[in-house]
Amino acid sequence: MFPDYVVGDLFSKLQGIFPAAEPILALYWQERNGFRVLTRGGERWVPLGEAGAEGWVLKLLSSIIVKDWRKERETLPVSYSLHGTPGAWMATPLVGKEGPLGVLSLSSPLPGAFDEHHLRLLESFASNLTLSLENVLLSERLQKQRRGFELVRKINLQMASASDLKSLIKVALDGLVRLFGASAGWIDLLEQGAMGSPEGVEWARGFLAKALDKGAAVIAEELGSGSPFSSVLSLPLKKGFKKFGAMALAFSTPHYFDEIELYLAEVLAEQIALAVENFALIGEKEQRIRALSLLNDLSKTISLSLNLDEIEITARNFLSRTFPVKAGALYLESAGEMKQVARWGEEPKLVDFISPGIIEERLESYSPFEITGPYGMPTFVAPIQLGNKSMGFILLIGYKLSEEEQLFLSSACSILAGAFHRAYLSREMENRLAEMVTLHAISEQVMLSLELPVVLETIVEIIKHVMDCRAACIFLLNEETGLLEIRASSGITSRWRTEAKLRVGEGISGKVVALGQPIYVPDTLLEPDFIFFDRSVRSILVVPLKVRGKVIGTLSVDHTIPNAFTSDDERFLSIVAVQAAIAIENATLYERIKEKAEALKKAYDEVSELSRFKSELLQNVSHELRSPLTFIKGYVELLKEKSMGPLTPEQEEALEIVSEKTDIMTRLVEEMIVMQKLEREKLKLEPVSLEEIAHLSVRSATFMAQSAGIEFKIEIPPGLPPVMGDKSRLIQVFDNLINNAIKFSPNGGTITVRLKDMGEYIQAEVEDTGIGIPEDKLDKIFERFYQVDSSSKRQFGGMGLGLAIVKSIVEAHGGKVWARSKLGKGSTFYFVIPKA
Ligand code: ADP
Repeated sequence: MFPDYVVGDLFSKLQGIFPAAEPILALYWQERNGFRVLTRGGERWVPLGEAGAEGWVLKLLSSIIVKDWRKERETLPVSYSLHGTPGAWMATPLVGKEGPLGVLSLSSPLPGAFDEHHLRLLESFASNLTLSLENVLLSERLQKQRRGFELVRKINLQMASASDLKSLIKVALDGLVRLFGASAGWIDLLEQGAMGSPEGVEWARGFLAKALDKGAAVIAEELGSGSPFSSVLSLPLKKGFKKFGAMALAFSTPHYFDEIELYLAEVLAEQIALAVENFALIGEKEQRIRALSLLNDLSKTISLSLNLDEIEITARNFLSRTFPVKAGALYLESAGEMKQVARWGEEPKLVDFISPGIIEERLESYSPFEITGPYGMPTFVAPIQLGNKSMGFILLIGYKLSEEEQLFLSSACSILAGAFHRAYLSREMENRLAEMVTLHAISEQVMLSLELPVVLETIVEIIKHVMDCRAACIFLLNEETGLLEIRASSGITSRWRTEAKLRVGEGISGKVVALGQPIYVPDTLLEPDFIFFDRSVRSILVVPLKVRGKVIGTLSVDHTIPNAFTSDDERFLSIVAVQAAIAIENATLYERIKEKAEALKKAYDEVSELSRFKSELLQNVSHELRSPLTFIKGYVELLKEKSMGPLTPEQEEALEIVSEKTDIMTRLVEEMIVMQKLEREKLKLEPVSLEEIAHLSVRSATFMAQSAGIEFKIEIPPGLPPVMGDKSRLIQVFDNLINNAIKFSPNGGTITVRLKDMGEYIQAEVEDTGIGIPEDKLDKIFERFYQVDSSSKRQFGGMGLGLAIVKSIVEAHGGKVWARSKLGKGSTFYFVIPKA
């Protein structure tokens, strides 16, 4: 029922606005109490009771946002949505004029992906969607109605040419069954008995009798398996209070009758009753043949046209040729009033003696009736009725109609009623289509751009073009000044665009804002306090622009002639105003989101600039320190070896300290350089043995460990597979961890190096029995320059880069590093590296 391209289009627009989110459109089907669920992957059917959170939104009829499904799970009345249990979820109902149409929902795997701004954006998207959804549904309904009437007309025509009652009933039955796609049908006339499908006739009698008895429709949509058919519709055949019998239609599968079907069935039942009555009453065969062929001709000529004017002419010709009256007239209803559309006869002015008001009160009846005419002339009125609706009437003055002629006239009226109805429908449909095309164009255009000025200009351009007016204009309320200002216009001289400013309550636009209602001034010259910006404006139509009930401005069209606009124009402009307000709201939201994004980007740029500056500084400093250090180290060694002369014991001791500290400083500079390298250079990954690397590191630290009174233990299971790694970097990881373990075990102890096979990973552990790390510092130690004790009096050397280096190497390998520790008892460092 909803064209695929509209859905595709909708989804891609949603994706443009919410890039990482998944959309679902759940269309509500009232008769089946469930959702037709449309996703990007296809569609499925879900009963309302199983629809989870979307069902809940439909019941509440308000938007809902769940920012983090997992966290909020406990507080939600439903445990899942049509998206399953996503990270974040939001949904908004689509509420049409006649009730809920469905739910539009979005999900994201990321908790926190949506906020209230997003929800509002989704809401305005949904109101836009609701509008097009309603248009599609409406035009579908009109089309169905039109097809139905086409068939009704055909059946009528065939009934009119039937030669006896039996064939009339047969034609009617065939038509009924075909029109509704039914499996069987029956017509039961009071004096004739039931006719129709032999199968199930006994069963059907019950329904026929009930409908006849009630005088109204009897419907069963889903019957149990005991019945020969699954659903049935039975209607009385009656004209006014007079009953002729009943008809019934049965379906072998459950059938849900919609409004249009019921309406068509009722119209047809009326027509059958009418035809049956005509048959019974018109006795004379010849007369009948003449009358029928006349009606047939009328029906044929009229069926060729969908144009109201043409139908009026045909009707007028037919009536004036058939009845030799003094004066005749055709009246049709228009905007709640009966208006004369044609008159004929020798003295057509005679019709002016009769006021349509008096006749209107009596139009309930189907059959022609007599009224008092001018100068006592015999005068007849024939109502043109469809269903229970009066469409108009025919007035015939100065000729006494026989009973047969009255019947004949009422048949003609029913043919005319059908023809007028079809013409109205077709006109309405054309108008609707034109509106839809415009609305579609507007929403297409405004969706193309989210920049407010472009959106506004596009709207006024399209409106001016479509409504063919002098100018179209959008005023928006400036929140700071409280004044209405022209924000977009087409057809207005540029001077007014900047000069025209109105207070709320002032001028037509100001009044519209104050009242929140449309105002139409059909003639500006007759309006005493009209404020003219331009003298040439003679009529003006202004509608409010509302966002969530609040008036934000006006949309207006004007013209240089008086009475330029109709109530249709007003309705149309109001619909456009809804769209425009949504577009304006969207653009404003978009602007706000854009501003936010720009501010974020600026902050991000600043941060990256700072961090770039920091690493450049580090790089320069470390390289500048490296060469002087080499000199210092060289000369200290020379002095120590006494190559530059003898030394006193104090000097020797001092030199020893200088040499030690120089070593420490050299290591620090090296660490800094390594850190930098890590940032710049890529890893060279190949399958390597962690076991071999662990042994290498332990071996190179053995001397240092021994002098600190520390013993090494190695626990490695045999046959460990290789990992995917950069050997020199991994050596550095072990070196740093082992060096720390030695450094922070001042009282000697044991260092255990372990490797374990963990499936996809190899896990390495370096355990010591040293001073330990406080629980709350375990995460911090991996940050650059972080030290548990950073005071100047601290006992251990270093600058807090070792673990940062470890972390960045391990993570570059796709691994993880962490630590556990007990203060005073020792620490264990763990890391994992993926297997080759
Ligand atoms: P550095 O050792 O140069 O200070 P690291 O990044 O290697 O820097 O370590 C950061 C901090 O983590 C150390 O200053 C120390 O406080 C703590 N730490 C690291 N390893 C151990 C360990 N095995 N036992 C106790 N504390 C440790």
